[in-house]
Amino acid sequence: METIAPFLEVIDEINEAGGDIFKLCFQCGLCDSVCPWNKVRPFSMRKLIREAAFGLSEVEGEDIWRCTTCGTCPAQCPRGVKQIDIAVALRRVATEYELFPPSVKSARTARSSLISEGNPLQGDRKKRADWAKDLSVKPYGEGMEALYFVGCYLSYDPRMKKVATATATILKKAGVRFGILGDKESCCGESIRKTGSEEVFKNLAKENIKTFIDNGVKKIIVSSPHCYHTFKNEYPEFMVNFEVVHINQYLLELINEGRLELKGEMPKRVTYHDPCYLGRHNGIYDEPRDLLKKISGLELVEMEAHGKNSLCCGGGGGRIWMDTPKEERFSDIRLKQANETDAQILATSCPYCITNFEESRLNLEFEAVIEVKDITEIISELL
Ligand code: SF4
Ligand code: SF4
Repeated sequence: METIAPFLEVIDEINEAGGDIFKLCFQCGLCDSVCPWNKVRPFSMRKLIREAAFGLSEVEGEDIWRCTTCGTCPAQCPRGVKQIDIAVALRRVATEYELFPPSVKSARTARSSLISEGNPLQGDRKKRADWAKDLSVKPYGEGMEALYFVGCYLSYDPRMKKVATATATILKKAGVRFGILGDKESCCGESIRKTGSEEVFKNLAKENIKTFIDNGVKKIIVSSPHCYHTFKNEYPEFMVNFEVVHINQYLLELINEGRLELKGEMPKRVTYHDPCYLGRHNGIYDEPRDLLKKISGLELVEMEAHGKNSLCCGGGGGRIWMDTPKEERFSDIRLKQANETDAQILATSCPYCITNFEESRLNLEFEAVIEVKDITEIISELL
């Protein structure tokens, strides 16, 4: 493979991304030993960092696109190296020079769709709220308790629309005065930023922030951990701070306040998968479990890898839009881990996780073995 060397711009980009962070690396290799890629094929973040330090990165290759930004290695690095920032900086250089290996081409389609329609799924912007047509969900208006920011997958993807429906149904049942932005909502931009398209992210963020301000939004309920992460941790870069609540946190609050009552029981064995951007990136481990424990008859069992050690589904960092060969999918491993607990349901709370798990369920012919559900779908069966 051709190496562009010395690629001083790589060093500049990484400096810009967070100073001389790569210089802290002493090449211990711990990041490689915890990285999920090494369960399916060889991949070395340590090597990427080493090459980047000398401006010798193969920016035209596949490896700079592998990191799913799962957050496992940054949490364990003894030198505090920001591996994700380094991967994103390398992708920015590749994006600037339009150096895209074949597996990344589909992420380019997502990018174009984000620019033209405000979503990565080539959905018509005007149809963003079509999922809510028969549910009499109101447009957000000032004075409402909260904005429900639906997100792209829940707005357009047929499987994920069921989660949007479940969420709206629960909120209505609890008497929450909420509204949606409909075609004024744009993608939060979290994942496209991780593919190195910083300008696209900034434009999406600015559009959303303007819409939030114009509509007097103060509190935002989200379903996607990716929306949660970027609203909470990245939008403040634009000098704004909205109150952001993940639906799991909000539903737990509603139950504890007596506004939402769960009826009947669900005598099922359930295991919970921690999405990277809810767990490792934002420390939300307890609320989803506490919510499941409120369900009468439900038996919650843990997979061996859970909490901060949860296995990434493979969809973060824009990988949800890239091509991953069947034998390299982390979600297949995760589904097998869930099955080992004898759970009847694999519950989670992220559109990327559900999309990947549903695909693995088909690939592994696990349809009759285990169901994949968002927690809101489970709760909506108990109203
Ligand atoms: S764990 Fe940290 S110090 Fe060790 S090789 Fe990886 S980045 Fe370098
Ligand atoms: S953040 Fe996750 S996917 Fe990326 S290099 Fe670290 S362990 Fe691997």
